[in-house]
Amino acid sequence: FAPWSDPAAKPLIRFENVTKRFGDAVAVDHLSLNIYESEFFCLLGPSGCGKTTLMRMLAGFEHPSEGRITLADRDLAGVPPYRRPVNMMFQSYALFPHMSVERNIAFGLKQDGLPKAEIAARVDEMLRLVQLERLAKRSPSQLSGGQRQRVALARALAKKPKVLLLDEPLGALDKKLREETQFELMDIQHDLGMTFVVVTHDQEEAMTMADRIAVMDHGRIVQVATPGEIYEQPKTRFIAEFVGDVNIIEGNVLGQENGHWRVRSRSAQPPLTIDDPDEVLHSDQAVAIAVRPEKMVIQRDPPGTDAVNVLTGEVWDIGYLGDWTVYRVKLASGEILRVTRANRSRYVESPIDWDEQVYVTFAPDAAVILAE
Ligand code: ATP
Repeated sequence: FAPWSDPAAKPLIRFENVTKRFGDAVAVDHLSLNIYESEFFCLLGPSGCGKTTLMRMLAGFEHPSEGRITLADRDLAGVPPYRRPVNMMFQSYALFPHMSVERNIAFGLKQDGLPKAEIAARVDEMLRLVQLERLAKRSPSQLSGGQRQRVALARALAKKPKVLLLDEPLGALDKKLREETQFELMDIQHDLGMTFVVVTHDQEEAMTMADRIAVMDHGRIVQVATPGEIYEQPKTRFIAEFVGDVNIIEGNVLGQENGHWRVRSRSAQPPLTIDDPDEVLHSDQAVAIAVRPEKMVIQRDPPGTDAVNVLTGEVWDIGYLGDWTVYRVKLASGEILRVTRANRSRYVESPIDWDEQVYVTFAPDAAVILAE
């Protein structure tokens, strides 16, 4: 499933050069974006970057100041929210407190004037889908946070919209429940084949669930790609730092040698060797080398003479996380690196200790070069 990489595939939703201003403030800035049918799409970005505004324009609660939004080739300008094949699930869930679970789910269907038997069948189907059959008669106040979240989801899905917008759908749940519910949401979306557009500021959530992620900053999209591409090939330093943990080593380009870039840095002697053939760089250009913590290797013994990208320092902090151990290593240049090591066995022979002198290395293809 990758319609975005098929030039013949037609997007379901198109944002074409869309800008939204509130007075002098620009919430969305000349943004263009395609979303495909049956895609699980995540909008990810820091608070205030314009995610919610973008969704509200798609739902019809806000109107673009400039540009155009189309759905299945139809211009949505002037189409009121209730006429759009789009439904939105709000962060607060907004359940009706005086109505039972099943009446909450039936609400929109009744308003649409569907026949009674059809409403009952649809409510049953939704209750099954979110596994709440046994709680149909309860009121929202008698439910846990996770159950309320499912009622809200069932109610939003009941009308079978073409597109479901979810604004921080798991924000009210605790960590463990949030992780479980991520997989449930993915299963439901997959079963229904519906297009989901999810707003989140939680990068792990976006990485877990999304087919593609759009990373937003200041009303613009800085990268749209699969979770793997965003993590492995971030386009900018902002993305590298926003999505996952990363070490940034600053330096200046010396030139190319045997297809590798050579980069001078005060953190490393001799210069670094980086394998990032897509970059177009010029000599002496300031760059940031981004290396994920799990792609760095920490060791006590000096690496062989043919080793590249050798950094020396001392262990500053050690954090044991069960599956991983995190080492913070202070380099002679003063920078602190974060290096993680998987704990594959119950026993670590001669573990590295606080204050030890260590060598940190990484392979040329473990890093990406980001132009500053
Ligand atoms: P969060 O994650 O905090 O919800 P967001 O990325 O969803 O943030 P938006 O809610 O879309 O961000 O807001 C984008 C910008 O537009 C913010 O600077 C916000 O203050 C501004 N904004 C949003 N709605 C309005 C409004 N109705 N009137 C004035 N400014 C607004």
